[in-house]
Amino acid sequence: MSLILTALRGTNAIFRTSYTNKVLTPRCLSVSSPVLSDAEATPDKPKKARDPAKDRSVKHSYETSIRYLASNAYHTTYGTDPVWKQYRRNHKGAIPPRKTRKTCIRYQQIATGSPCPICRDEYLVLDHRNPELLKQFISEHNGAVLSYSKTGLCQKKHQELLVSIARAKNFGTITYDVPFRQYDYSEWYKPDSNA
Ligand SMILES: [Zn+2]
Repeated sequence: MSLILTALRGTNAIFRTSYTNKVLTPRCLSVSSPVLSDAEATPDKPKKARDPAKDRSVKHSYETSIRYLASNAYHTTYGTDPVWKQYRRNHKGAIPPRKTRKTCIRYQQIATGSPCPICRDEYLVLDHRNPELLKQFISEHNGAVLSYSKTGLCQKKHQELLVSIARAKNFGTITYDVPFRQYDYSEWYKPDSNA
């Protein structure tokens, strides 16, 4: 190596010394670092056992959810309040983010410290055949669906809520009032045509 260096330094007519120094630095010659190769050689880490409290791989049916809503366990947990009433989200700083998080469950597991009211309780199933749960997210004053800023639902569950409420209204499991409107039919018919 030293012989090559000295030979190259000698031939200043062809190569500038600064150029040869740049090319033949030991850092450039080292191709692979031993740290990386060791990391590649190690076998994959064994998978961690899932926390059963955070595991959401099992999907419960809406019948189970209906029975849960009528059970003592539900009443001792929530009382007569809606499920979102006592929920508070953890966030950085004093001002909460404008939108709720995209989803609380990733890879069939709860991936956040404060999952939304639906994600945190696996027995709450949003379904159009489960009207007692859906009614908790409908305003009693004007019949509108409550905003996620009030209920704290994540964006994924809020979309599911909107779909199941629309389906429930179509299926008739949720009744709602259509606003009554007085029509003045004289606007459509001329007075001569009635006569
Ligand atoms: Zn959620």
